[in-house]
Amino acid sequence: MTKLCLCDSGQPMKECCEPFLSGKEMPTSPVLLMRSRYCAFVLKNMDYIYNTTDPQVRHQIDLKGNQEWADKAEFTGLEVIKSSEDGNKGMVEFKAKFIMPGEAETVHHELSKFRRQAGVWYFRDGRILGETLKD
Ligand SMILES: [Zn+2]
Repeated sequence: MTKLCLCDSGQPMKECCEPFLSGKEMPTSPVLLMRSRYCAFVLKNMDYIYNTTDPQVRHQIDLKGNQEWADKAEFTGLEVIKSSEDGNKGMVEFKAKFIMPGEAETVHHELSKFRRQAGVWYFRDGRILGETLKD
């Protein structure tokens, strides 16, 4: 059985996010980076989250807080709504689903911004469009 990618693309993991997570390849678009960052959250790989955040804003990340949050969360799905690229800037709108212990499933709706520097895409910041608990 082929292992399907954790980003819900329906593609085999090794042909989707795996080469990015292992550092063999660099995501060539904001949406590929976003998908691989979702996988990193599923895998609780905060190093990947740190390394793929824009060097200009990296120092603002609360790594410990992120790690504690990700360790508790059970990620249950990703839906990319739309993505765009304009030169060295990009945007991805998505919904990520997760369950915190003792809670109903949360749907996190976000518009993420990305920036390309020296040919490498980085996550810049995100604006939360909605966060709702399903019942
Ligand atoms: Zn993937």
